[in-house]
Amino acid sequence: MLETLQRLTQEANAAQDLDDLLQIIVRGVQSILSAEVVSVYLSDFEQEQLIMMITNGLDLRMPGAVRLNMNEGLVGLIARRAEPVNLADARNHKEFVHVAELNEDEYHSFLGVPIIQQRKVLGVLVVQRKRVCRFDEDQVAFLVTLAAQLAGSIAHAEALMSATESQSLNRPAHERYLLGVPGSQGIGIGKALVLYSPMRLQSIPDRQCKDVEDEVARFKTAVTILQKEMLNLKERMRQLLPQEDYALFDAYLLMLNSETLIQGTIKEIHAGNWAEGAVRRVVLRQIRRFEEMGDSYLRERAEDMREIGRRLLMILQEKADPLEQVTEGSVIMGEEISATQLAQLAPIKLGGIISVRGSQSSHAAILARAMGVPAVMGVADLDLSRADGCMVIADGYQGRIYIEPSSVVQQEYDRLLDEQVELNHELDALRDLSAETVDGARVSLYVNTGLLADIGPSVESGAEGIGLYRTEVPFMARDHFPGEEEQTRIYRHVLESFHPRPVTLRTLDIGGDKSLPYFPIHEENPFLGWRGIRVTLDHPEIFLTQIRAAMRANAGLGNLRVMLPMVTDVEEVQVALNLIDQAFEELDEEDEHLTWPDVGVMIEVPSSVYQVEQIVTRVDFLSVGTNDLTQYMLAVDRNNSRVAKLYDSLHPAVLQAVMQVVNAGRLYNRPVSICGEMSGDPAAVVLLLGMGVDSLSMSTTQLPQVKWVIRSFTRRHAKELLTRALSMENARSIRDELNQALIEAGLGRLIRAGG
Ligand code: PEP
Ligand code: MG
Repeated sequence: MLETLQRLTQEANAAQDLDDLLQIIVRGVQSILSAEVVSVYLSDFEQEQLIMMITNGLDLRMPGAVRLNMNEGLVGLIARRAEPVNLADARNHKEFVHVAELNEDEYHSFLGVPIIQQRKVLGVLVVQRKRVCRFDEDQVAFLVTLAAQLAGSIAHAEALMSATESQSLNRPAHERYLLGVPGSQGIGIGKALVLYSPMRLQSIPDRQCKDVEDEVARFKTAVTILQKEMLNLKERMRQLLPQEDYALFDAYLLMLNSETLIQGTIKEIHAGNWAEGAVRRVVLRQIRRFEEMGDSYLRERAEDMREIGRRLLMILQEKADPLEQVTEGSVIMGEEISATQLAQLAPIKLGGIISVRGSQSSHAAILARAMGVPAVMGVADLDLSRADGCMVIADGYQGRIYIEPSSVVQQEYDRLLDEQVELNHELDALRDLSAETVDGARVSLYVNTGLLADIGPSVESGAEGIGLYRTEVPFMARDHFPGEEEQTRIYRHVLESFHPRPVTLRTLDIGGDKSLPYFPIHEENPFLGWRGIRVTLDHPEIFLTQIRAAMRANAGLGNLRVMLPMVTDVEEVQVALNLIDQAFEELDEEDEHLTWPDVGVMIEVPSSVYQVEQIVTRVDFLSVGTNDLTQYMLAVDRNNSRVAKLYDSLHPAVLQAVMQVVNAGRLYNRPVSICGEMSGDPAAVVLLLGMGVDSLSMSTTQLPQVKWVIRSFTRRHAKELLTRALSMENARSIRDELNQALIEAGLGRLIRAGG
């Protein structure tokens, strides 16, 4: 069963479009279950109907000709209950409705299963037989598993349906989007550019080739190079391996020179695809063929074919850097757009970012917000191979993407863009006003940054300082650790730009989803692994160089603050303080006239919340990293879109933890800042105001909105809302309550789409 399932889902994943996909499903299920009828219904959420899209066995004039209301018939029952129905004779069921034109009188047994994705019933898959007899348990299990596996492909194929196809089924165009998670607010419209990984066959997109003859020549050269490589390898192996083993290379060479591979690829290039896309198509087709073969020896050749594909791509891509093709306005797409890639692309003004993996608190999303680029993360059903070059809309408010949107959808988004510009314009007027509540409580507003390109806009934004400078960002954009001189120059620029306002440099915080190209960390569970201060305390040479550079950059300025990330143990604070002391002493001996900076700790792990009193007495300030604190308190991976709905800093447990830190700061007279993304969330800001935090640090683009919130509330009202929130049981009710308060304060336009 597992093998049959795998084969069918693989075939389905390679379908060209929705029609093709439905045909594959119907044909596959019919042959596997020997059912006389197989039909697929898809949901039309707008009309609250189920449309029969395809059937093998019944009389369907055309797709869309038969529609059932959600409360109609057995199909409606399956969709409503979101569970399978298995009947010996469908006719005896009280929900059965007779659709005369389908001519289904002779079919008695009926099995229907819902097709569900992210709790949404996308449709219903039905099989029927003439015999009066229930389908057996294995058959039910097979169909349920298949439907669960195919839901993603169906969602993707639906999103790619053209507007005309959609209209012919009388389906509203705005249904056709793929769902992800809001990564960075805003709307990005532009041409998609897929940042593929040259090593992954599946990730190579189709792309229009510029010159067919050049492309064919490129492919042929790659084949010749690979042939030579194989012959050399064979020669070397001849001395080491017995003949039957090195004969493997003959099999490789045969496959490489086969008519199917060579001519098949050339044909695809002549159809307009570039060589890489053509190789992907032909190789994947061949792999599928081998996998379907009965003979186990031939089935194993699928792996050889994959290896040939991989090697050909490596040769074709040898000098290519996917990042080089990114231009102003590109909407970049990828399997996992990383913070490192964005740091490298920072000088280019991107149109949008779409990532198959990742979530709202991934560092790529955080950087996207710092860059002011709309981003949608975790679009799990996006098929990258078919999206390159398409017109796309990235809706960073709702976490949706549209591929080749209809003109109606485009117009709607153009209108939203105008509204966005208008709101930003209105908020500009607040730039020089203080962040002060109606009853006179002051909160300092700082920015989070790390990109040099962001320094100018941050200074201009009216920020009172930098609450979090992520020093790992300049480390990411290089191909080796920056030395002391280079770091000194970078930090000096930042400190000078903001002088005399404070600049909080966080010591290198790598690990988790932030890796340096030249210092890779491969771990099973990176968020629970070698991260932040754990890495730098294990490498005091890296820590000391950074501290020395920061202190030297601060000479004559005095606005430096140093902050330690990912502290889980009081001893880490002590060791770090000793190292800072050592760096200071060394520089003093070298006759640098320095001032000792304020040193603070990030509270972003539950253990440091419980030990906050021991920590706070050792340092000058605290800053709550709510991104990690939320992840660790709620056991929700901040990078995983599948659990994104559970990730909410308004969870009562997170609020209690933040309160505890704020109270400790007050008790020991140390300022407490919040530097996680919670600071930029208008609803959360009201509660943080109620707690009495000293400062909030957020991305530059969020600052004007947060100032608007602070200036629209009284501290008293914020405290009342906090008391009410703390008596509630879950984040959802707290968010509803705060959204209501924002609406009443005239700030309805700031309510987060996801919230
Ligand atoms: C945090 O965890 O809240 C934080 C500000 O640090 P980072 O997002 O860089 O992990
Ligand atoms: Mg953190």
